[in-house]
Amino acid sequence: MKHTTALELKLDRNAGFFERLAFRPSEGQKRILTYLLMLVAPWTIASASGVEFHDIYRYVLSALNVLAMMAFFIQFPLAGRLRNLPWFANIDWNIRTHKRIGKCLGAFFFLHPLLIVAPKALLSAQDLQESAVAMITSANTLTGVIAWIAMSVWVLMAVFKDRLSIRYETWRLLHVSGFVVIATLGALHVTSVGSHGQYEQQFNLVWWGLYAATMALVLYNYLLKPRMIRSRPFEIREIRKISDCDWKLTIQSRSGSRVSFEAGQFVWINTSKTPFNLEQHPFSIAGGEIGTGTLSFVIRELGDYTSSLDSLQPGQTVYVDGPYGSMSVDQGRSSAGITLIAGGAGIAPLLGLLRELAKRNETRPVRLVYGNRNLDRMVAISELRALTSTMRNFSVQLVCNELPERGEPGLDIRQGVIDESTIRAAIEPGKQSDWSVYLCGPGGMISANVRQLKAIGVKSDHIHFEQLAF
Ligand SMILES: Cc1cc2nc3c(=O)[nH]c(=O)nc-3n(C[C@H](O)[C@H](O)[C@H](O)COP(=O)(O)OP(=O)(O)OC[C@H]3O[C@@H](n4cnc5c(N)ncnc54)[C@H](O)[C@@H]3O)c2cc1C
Repeated sequence: MKHTTALELKLDRNAGFFERLAFRPSEGQKRILTYLLMLVAPWTIASASGVEFHDIYRYVLSALNVLAMMAFFIQFPLAGRLRNLPWFANIDWNIRTHKRIGKCLGAFFFLHPLLIVAPKALLSAQDLQESAVAMITSANTLTGVIAWIAMSVWVLMAVFKDRLSIRYETWRLLHVSGFVVIATLGALHVTSVGSHGQYEQQFNLVWWGLYAATMALVLYNYLLKPRMIRSRPFEIREIRKISDCDWKLTIQSRSGSRVSFEAGQFVWINTSKTPFNLEQHPFSIAGGEIGTGTLSFVIRELGDYTSSLDSLQPGQTVYVDGPYGSMSVDQGRSSAGITLIAGGAGIAPLLGLLRELAKRNETRPVRLVYGNRNLDRMVAISELRALTSTMRNFSVQLVCNELPERGEPGLDIRQGVIDESTIRAAIEPGKQSDWSVYLCGPGGMISANVRQLKAIGVKSDHIHFEQLAF
């Protein structure tokens, strides 16, 4: 009998619509198609009202305005943590798309007033000037003008987030509250000024409906969900330093009840006194037991929070939001072999995958490439060594920037970084196109390694990665 995994069930539920169209797109194509269908929905409704345009320029501009406004509303569920809504369940893709689309929208909305007055430039400079002044000073466009200024500033704040010297939590509060205000002003603007689809007054109901859904989503994420999380608390079982700069944190559901997760996923952890606190950090599940509700993490000291883990106490309450993430051993179930590539803290989800493969008595070749600045930063070394003898076909390649003073019996160590030659050696020659590769680590390492993997013939849809940053 075929064993159906949780992931397959999830995919089956998502599949219905496209299968009915007798079309079998990949998971990535389904996400893009779903996004495009949502995107064009308001314009399709607006077009159905049969409006006639005097010129093609106004037609194109109006269509772009409606598409951009819809893309703006979709930004909220993309950034929300909606794992139960199949359309928005892949949080890694959502966040990547949210960032890309956010930049495009920033540029489009910045150009929006210029595009409206641009045709006047063909008449005369004076016409252009009068039109621009009328647009800025009219009471009718005030909400739009404020939204335009706020949007420009808030998009820049998002693009340069890492260069602002403010705490991540402060930035997140500003980001969400700022865009709630912009959505409110934007909704007022598009329902009161023409060229946003409302040739029939009823069309404004579409915009107000989308606005209401957006606000409901924000309230769900910041008020309702924390209350639900409060009703199923966890507590710390163990907090222990396991390398020069890494900690092992083990938590357990206080009621001892089951917790469903898949190896490779992550959760948001909140160790403050209230689930409403915005200080929540994403960490990958490195191990755990579904039955007893136990989860363990490998956490690297990096900033304020991760450098104060020694203040956590066994027995302390922990609030957990998740699991999230789509990395799973099932993604590589039909491949000839599996390579796991970890950089620094990136070992966490890959340890989870490796432990799951060991539990399933994996017989296919499994290779782990694990890079760090030096040996003192490596974690779980004795477990890895033990797995090389207990798993049927498993080997480890350690990679250190600094030349190690000592060796690790039974484990191979290379000096340098994880480069193309290291990766090539971790995949059986000639099998590249049948191999699955999982990566986790800093963004720079992932982009370089993904390029190298493609160059040596690993298929794009066989490459699965998790970046340790949003
Ligand atoms: C999906 C995912 C899984 C992760 N898994 C692990 C893991 O298993 N082990 C591990 O050591 N690290 C992991 N990280 C990274 C970890 O979340 C950050 O190192 C940690 O939140 C930094 O917090 P800080 O206050 O110590 O550092 P800060 O100095 O505040 O931040 C350092 C960096 O982390 C980012 N960051 C800070 N807080 C958050 C937050 N709440 N949400 C998202 N990004 C934030 C900041 O933008 C900054 O780039 C993961 C990150 C993501 C996105």
